[in-house]
Amino acid sequence: MPIVARFIRLSAALSGFVLMAACSGDPPSLQSAPPNPAPFTVETRAGTKIHVIQTGWGATKQNARDATGPGFLRLLSFLTDGDWTDWFPVNFYAIERSGGVVVHDTGETARIHEDGYYRCDALTEWIYLTHFRFSVAPEFELGPQLQSLGIDPATVKWAVLSHLHSDHIGGMSYLTGAEFLISRRDWGGHRGALLCRIPRWIKPTLVEYAPEPFGAFQRSHAVSGDPNLRIVPTPGHSPGHQSLMLLEEGTYYLFAGDAVFNLESTERARDSGFAADLDAAWASHETIRKQLRDFETVLAPAHDYGVRDGSRFPSHVH
Ligand SMILES: [Zn+2]
Repeated sequence: MPIVARFIRLSAALSGFVLMAACSGDPPSLQSAPPNPAPFTVETRAGTKIHVIQTGWGATKQNARDATGPGFLRLLSFLTDGDWTDWFPVNFYAIERSGGVVVHDTGETARIHEDGYYRCDALTEWIYLTHFRFSVAPEFELGPQLQSLGIDPATVKWAVLSHLHSDHIGGMSYLTGAEFLISRRDWGGHRGALLCRIPRWIKPTLVEYAPEPFGAFQRSHAVSGDPNLRIVPTPGHSPGHQSLMLLEEGTYYLFAGDAVFNLESTERARDSGFAADLDAAWASHETIRKQLRDFETVLAPAHDYGVRDGSRFPSHVH
């Protein structure tokens, strides 16, 4: 058999296997999602309020957080995984300070339940429909929840986006007065980026990082010139994934988006199966572990159950 024909046959067989395996295993039913908890707020001694705000629940394939092995095999193990995770929270964070409110990510929107919402392009829609489930009611979106905290969404000054996956961009349309800070690398799109759902009126500031160390990170970008509130690059999950970090009275608060899945996966050095760049994702994991090891740091990723119970925050926070 000519080598080209053999390659085509092998590719077809592999694609069929991927499709079959990807469609196996039932996702959790939407009715099984737990009630959405109310926002959880901590206040630091300096008077900053950190709101942990959950915009519904998500589920994906187990290997999104437990993949092992090298290179593309890790992505393949995610694509072919028949097992689903339990529901995990879809959080974003609002930091309320005297200079104004900054949010890291914007959570998910109830519009995902509309037919065709994911239809930006065929591959993106396929990935979301076969490998992810989200459960969101309209009252759990960013707008109503900020209102319930006494924050008018239109007054939010800065919105730092970790990346452009559906469950991070869902509340952008509420933030009509914000400066959006998005990494230059991700703004053009990346795997799973739901570009067609980003409001057309948004003209973001495209972030690049200066050689200004902050904690364990060698480069950073100060938000509105504040030296203690900086965006740090945590690439890998998407090519330009970025995190937000606040330094107050010797404690760092690291809002990590999807750079890591949760504290446990970070400590166990398990990596994402849905990383766009595995080497970069691994390097970001290493830097985050160094940050946790060498500096007093509160880790707050987007999908971590543990952030809400308060035990991760230092004792001077109540
Ligand atoms: Zn993501």
